[in-house]
Amino acid sequence: MIAAGLDVVRMNFSHGTAQDHKQRAELVRKIADKMGKSVGVMADLQGPKIRIGKFEQGKVRLEKGDNFVLDAECSLGNQHCVGLDYKDLPKDVLPEDVLLLDDGRIVLNVLSIDGPRINCSVKHGGILSNNKGINRLGGGLSAPALTPKDMEDIITAAELQADYLAVSFPRSGADIEQARQLLRKAGGHGLLIAKVERAEAIPALDEILEASDGIMVARGDLGVEVGDAAVPALQKKMIKLARDKNKLTITATQMMESMIENPIPTRAEVSDVANAVLDGTDAVMLSAETAAGKYPVETIEAMSRICIEAEKSVEAALERGFLNREYTRIDQSIAMATIFTAFHLKVKAIASLTESGSTPLWMSRINSGVPIYALTNTEETRRKMTLYRGVYPMLGKFKGYDRDKLLEKVEEVMLENKIIEIGDFIALTIGEPIGQPGGTNTMKIVKVGDHRK
Ligand code: PGA
Ligand code: MN
Repeated sequence: MIAAGLDVVRMNFSHGTAQDHKQRAELVRKIADKMGKSVGVMADLQGPKIRIGKFEQGKVRLEKGDNFVLDAECSLGNQHCVGLDYKDLPKDVLPEDVLLLDDGRIVLNVLSIDGPRINCSVKHGGILSNNKGINRLGGGLSAPALTPKDMEDIITAAELQADYLAVSFPRSGADIEQARQLLRKAGGHGLLIAKVERAEAIPALDEILEASDGIMVARGDLGVEVGDAAVPALQKKMIKLARDKNKLTITATQMMESMIENPIPTRAEVSDVANAVLDGTDAVMLSAETAAGKYPVETIEAMSRICIEAEKSVEAALERGFLNREYTRIDQSIAMATIFTAFHLKVKAIASLTESGSTPLWMSRINSGVPIYALTNTEETRRKMTLYRGVYPMLGKFKGYDRDKLLEKVEEVMLENKIIEIGDFIALTIGEPIGQPGGTNTMKIVKVGDHRK
């Protein structure tokens, strides 16, 4: 899967034990290391997904028009009722609400509330099995974002040095802030990704973006809450807003769904992946396709091929939005100057020497068609840049070098990797003195090989 183009592994903390996750993270890094690559690890918290309980027979078949009760006090479900893991749900719903079970496959109309019981009538029937999720059309269920399990899992994420922590079902910036504090307290350095999957998260998008390093367009749950037809426009809006705020985006769910069973994607799936790239997403995500599907490697190969082709078509021009913006920071100004210059001089590549990853992040928010090679001293920064669009993270230990030696080394690494050839122009961003974070203060245009004369 890594050879096929995998950049980041998401570990879904809804499944498995802390030990499983730690071993898996270790395995990913070991294999990536052997291949000379860097693969990021994302810990994805389960969050307060509200679920029904279990059935006597494991499942039931509901027919349109049946009466069915969601009962907080029912211990084992049957044809007439089923239990709830969130006992306060009856306080959160009202008659005439629409409840969606199993990602919307089953639809219930709420008739009345009777203490712990929610009396419903089946609108769309089908098979309903143990522990399926419940959403309310329009959102508004009040379970808090971080459950006790999530708090424990944050410690696991810190221990396995997750590069990203994804927070499920946040309602506000404060939810992300709380997760960040818990992660930092546990010694974790990962970036915070807010999964936008509740209806309430849409009006709160600005503050959620401010509080996080990136967002996931979590189309599965979001589509259930806001209606599937609203999702495509929201995807575009979210990606644009995130890029404007220098944040990352992941587009997720059912991207290559048919490849769970088939070795090739549908035309619609090809279009969906390409369109997410054209929208400006940093990453496209796979779920069941690679977790349980029959063709994990083929799926990644296909997705990678589609992304590369779509990128080629989009990045031939320089996005102009940033030209009228004001920049007061030196490092950010150098980043913008470099992207502008690199585009106009048609340099072969940008080489960004970075401690924190900020300069490549800022440059990668603007399409220019010039690849950004981010060279960094630490494995940690290298791994966190695996999600950045158009950025190729590389390890380069340049601490203590003077500028001539540094240029020589950068060229050497890029020549070795066949990124550039003698005679090519490259644009560099450097922080002098070398090796201090946040210190980018220099742009340099170099003709490869010139300094050797
Ligand atoms: P999940 O999140 O896969 O953890 O449910 C993504 C989504 O809801 O789309
Ligand atoms: Mn979800």
